[in-house]
Amino acid sequence: MIRPADPDHRPPADVVAFPLRSSDGALAHVSPSSIRDYLQCSLRFYFKRVLGLPEPGSVSLHLGKAVHAGIQAYWIARWRGGDASTEAVLASYQTAFAAHEQEASVSFAEEERETTLAKGESLLRAYCESEHAQTEAKPIGVEVKLQDDFPELPSPLLGYVDLVLSAADGPVVCDFKTVAATPNVELEAFLHEGQLCAYQLLIEEATGQPVSARELVFLVKTKTPKVIVHRLPPADEAARERFWSMAQAMVDGVYHERWHPQPGMHCGWCPYRGPCARWRGGNDVA
Ligand code: SF4
Repeated sequence: MIRPADPDHRPPADVVAFPLRSSDGALAHVSPSSIRDYLQCSLRFYFKRVLGLPEPGSVSLHLGKAVHAGIQAYWIARWRGGDASTEAVLASYQTAFAAHEQEASVSFAEEERETTLAKGESLLRAYCESEHAQTEAKPIGVEVKLQDDFPELPSPLLGYVDLVLSAADGPVVCDFKTVAATPNVELEAFLHEGQLCAYQLLIEEATGQPVSARELVFLVKTKTPKVIVHRLPPADEAARERFWSMAQAMVDGVYHERWHPQPGMHCGWCPYRGPCARWRGGNDVA
């Protein structure tokens, strides 16, 4: 027999859905790194970009940032007619290395600081002597911040492009990667396709010119450092649509605050395994 409804004696109802608040600030803009973070693990995105839980620095990140500063100094000098000598590049690198030490929580093991510093110096020497650095092409943007509205997204797309070189048939987008071992360039191109596509879209919007090529420049931290340039054609229509679909999936997930663990190899270097293990659903972390 079905009992008549008795509002005074029914058990407490479970709220299964209600309008959720959009995560403040997390959608102020959309960047290739925020898309990658969300699609790789939405819960990690929540810890990092919504809760702002601190991420301890690592020695390789520290080195990568300082090497980046050295490359940036080289190309700014080439762009504006400054000192592009290897000595000037190394001086910028050493300054950045020391500055990051002040602001980041990286801890070096005994003698690790000196070996890390020296590794970065030999990487930059190798880069300054490389064909890529010696190109006649003129830079038209170095560490350039680009932000624009696109009809495909409700938030502006934002990107920081390491280097844009001029070429007769259109700008060339360059992105530098500091890596530990000789990379599988096909795999790297696949992994970074979204980032390169976003940069291409932003540069084309800013310059009104179609991008002619995209380059991943690997600085390999092997005993004898190597510079490997992997040149890719511009993203075609299918790649652009794929990028927008990935970006829209991220925006939709963040807007509706959909976070959940996505365990995989990346958990090995995730700093949030503790809060992840305590997560009970939604925004609830014990
Ligand atoms: S430990 Fe793995 S599943 Fe958990 S938040 Fe980190 S990346 Fe995601």
